[in-house]
Amino acid sequence: MSIEKRSEDTRRSGSEEIVRIREAVRALCAGFPGTYWRELDRTRAYPTAFVKALTDAGFLAALIPEAYGGSGLNLKAAVAIMEEIQASGCNGAACHAQMYVMGTLLRHGSADQKERWLPGIASGALRLQAFGVTEPGSGSDTLNLRTVAVREGDHYVINGQKIWTSRLEHSDLMLLLARTTAREAVKKHTEGLSVFLLDLREESRRGLTVRPIRTMMNHATTEVFFDDVRVPAENLIGQEGQGFSYILAGMNAERILIAGECIGDAKWFIERATSYAKERVVFGRPIGRNQGIQFPIARAYAQMRAAELMVDEAAERYQEGLPCGAEANMAKLLAADASWAAADTCVQTLGGFAFAEEFDVERKFRETRLYQVAPVSTNLILSYLSEHVLGLPRSY
Ligand SMILES: Cc1cc2nc3c(=O)[nH]c(=O)nc-3n(C[C@H](O)[C@H](O)[C@H](O)COP(=O)(O)OP(=O)(O)OC[C@H]3O[C@@H](n4cnc5c(N)ncnc54)[C@H](O)[C@@H]3O)c2cc1C
Repeated sequence: MSIEKRSEDTRRSGSEEIVRIREAVRALCAGFPGTYWRELDRTRAYPTAFVKALTDAGFLAALIPEAYGGSGLNLKAAVAIMEEIQASGCNGAACHAQMYVMGTLLRHGSADQKERWLPGIASGALRLQAFGVTEPGSGSDTLNLRTVAVREGDHYVINGQKIWTSRLEHSDLMLLLARTTAREAVKKHTEGLSVFLLDLREESRRGLTVRPIRTMMNHATTEVFFDDVRVPAENLIGQEGQGFSYILAGMNAERILIAGECIGDAKWFIERATSYAKERVVFGRPIGRNQGIQFPIARAYAQMRAAELMVDEAAERYQEGLPCGAEANMAKLLAADASWAAADTCVQTLGGFAFAEEFDVERKFRETRLYQVAPVSTNLILSYLSEHVLGLPRSY
């Protein structure tokens, strides 16, 4: 029995529907084998055909309510989709944000805004998968961001810079966090930031400069410069000055979904390591007969299964509307650690062949390393737990 299958069978609450979704995602991913990803990796090209197939199958609209043309699934189903993509050797980072960035619009947008944009996002006619929060000057310290949006009549005028704005070149819309009230002028330090939906196809693109950043792995990310970019005031989401709280609410879903991706990665690495250890014969016997090979794989498996429980718990709390900041953070931390441990073990098990492109291990190794840093770095999660769960003094 494969580890994906065993793990699926032992999931606490995998409904019939989720099992069917997993099978469908796996069947779709089978059409995008390692050769497809390797070629894109070499040229740092966007997986357009893969994203189109996921869109056409409705998977990226999983979290959009049926009333707006989405599938109306819950977060556990969405996690299962992302997990299966990664466990199949594919890379969901090219499009995972299409699933969750719209959450801010869904939760905080007006009825008109939702009617205007959600059906297009659900059908895939509109791609909302660019999310501009991080800036070069502020990094993890989001409240210190400097991009400003100043109201001028029926527009806001945006000036500043974002970095690591991923998938912008493959998006029609972008969710942007910018300062609308100076930090010194707000009562609470979390106020004064606002969220805008920028239509990248319209006039508002004028003044926007986008520069791709070549990264360790194939990840369509960019730096973005705003020079008097004009955004219609009607594109402000929710209340002016409350944007930070809207973004925070969305981050829980993002963390849980990405944790699901890390579980998928861990399963892929464990599967690869296990099958190679059974087949590779050195000193006249399969290397998998040596405990020195078995134990790290077994440990990585146990670590992945424990992380999977936390991802399940976080997703359950999220979809029941319960507070889940701690669980979402722990799920992301544990799952990213599990995928990294499994990646390292896989490399050690394959020995020299792990470094050869054609085995895909080196590609997946580079891809999964990201999740120790983004969308939130491990240290920042540990700081959150120290302060908000353990009651220790704030360290920064
Ligand atoms: C490929 C890629 C894609 C990304 N996509 C997006 C995107 O689409 N949209 C977006 O907005 N952002 C995106 N990001 C940004 C990502 O969220 C940040 O890189 C991440 O949050 C860390 O911020 P930073 O890189 O500025 O690191 P910094 O904040 O500069 O931190 C550097 C290191 O110092 C540590 N550190 C900082 N402060 C403390 C402290 N007080 N205590 C202990 N340790 C600390 C951090 O943990 C980290 O290890 C992306 C990043 C990458 C690399």
